[in-house]
Amino acid sequence: MGEDLGDQRFRIVDFSVDAVSGTRSNFVRNAAQHDQALAAFFDRTGADYERFNYLGEWHTHPSFSVHPSLQDVHAMQDLVDGSGGVRFAFLLIARLRWHWWFEASTHLFVQGHVPTPVDLILEPDMLEP
Ligand SMILES: [Zn+2]
Repeated sequence: MGEDLGDQRFRIVDFSVDAVSGTRSNFVRNAAQHDQALAAFFDRTGADYERFNYLGEWHTHPSFSVHPSLQDVHAMQDLVDGSGGVRFAFLLIARLRWHWWFEASTHLFVQGHVPTPVDLILEPDMLEP
């Protein structure tokens, strides 16, 4: 979930964690848990959907490249296919290497367009332990 900062910049302000579904090599989102997290987020942000809204999906690739897999690309393209009202979505894939190095990729998915890599900027306070 994120905040629209304007000028095509977004801040990740919250996220849901599903520690039950999926495996180390296959991501599956629990839709009911995700819907609950999103509803709680909208309550906290006063249902200000123009400023605070769903931004996209994230998961880890603990054992391989943070580049989106073909399955990831298809899942995200299905998400923005127009049937669910999602016009665009980001996919963040993260990995922790050697127990301390945060590695991530972020791609923007828009209906009818190829995925576009976008910059992910870590805010200084996010780097504190
Ligand atoms: Zn993946």
